[in-house]
Amino acid sequence: MKEIKDIIIVKNLQKTYSGEFPLHVLKGVSFSVKEGEFVAIMGRSGSGKSTLLHQLSLLDDPDEGEIIVENKELTTLNEKEKTKYRLQFFGYVFQEYALLPGFTAIEAVSLPLILQHYSMKESRQRARKMLELVQLGDRVDHFPSEMSGGEQQRVAIARALINNPKILFADEPCANLDSESSEVILNLFQKLNKELNQTTIIVTHEPEDEKYVDRVIYMKDGTLQ
Ligand code: ADP
Ligand code: MG
Repeated sequence: MKEIKDIIIVKNLQKTYSGEFPLHVLKGVSFSVKEGEFVAIMGRSGSGKSTLLHQLSLLDDPDEGEIIVENKELTTLNEKEKTKYRLQFFGYVFQEYALLPGFTAIEAVSLPLILQHYSMKESRQRARKMLELVQLGDRVDHFPSEMSGGEQQRVAIARALINNPKILFADEPCANLDSESSEVILNLFQKLNKELNQTTIIVTHEPEDEKYVDRVIYMKDGTLQ
């Protein structure tokens, strides 16, 4: 049987938010994720889940520790290299969708490709395909204000996946959704994870989301349980 390799290895990650009362949020977090795995990070509000995701996805810099993705240590990259790495290899989905109001679905999803200098025609073709994959083929010309929360989040997922990222990060992607839309979104994450062999790391605090994922990592007071 083929051995599945670790795509991400995290060693002793530490993060303190400085200020009048410094807050030691990550107190030595270590774990690894296999290629193609669908992992949920769970834990109470304030336990450091978003902070961990921000460090892993290079949106913030840890004070100590290593983040190794496909054998490459990422914490030593400079800002420019980090930005490039993020654009090429990571996809993000946020709780509040983060869609720009003036862009239609197809414009929002094609933008990451246009930024990487693909032609307008190819970018739109690929964006349309991706929107069909998230079952929004009939909403390509809609603006965010013309879509439900669940539809907007599916646009955000399509946008996150358009670059075919190695790792998809999602921070409480269903927190603003009703339970029916949440189910659609989590089923979609599961399907994309399997069909595209996507490595997916989501943060959630809904215990019932456990059934969608391969493994749950529990976080408590800045360490993993
Ligand atoms: P979770 O996502 O598990 O709810 P967070 O990682 O957002 O937790 O936050 C962990 C702790 O760090 C919380 O006490 C929060 O108030 C604090 N915190 C988060 N971001 C910042 C920041 N930028 N500056 C200072 N403190 C922060
Ligand atoms: Mg959070």
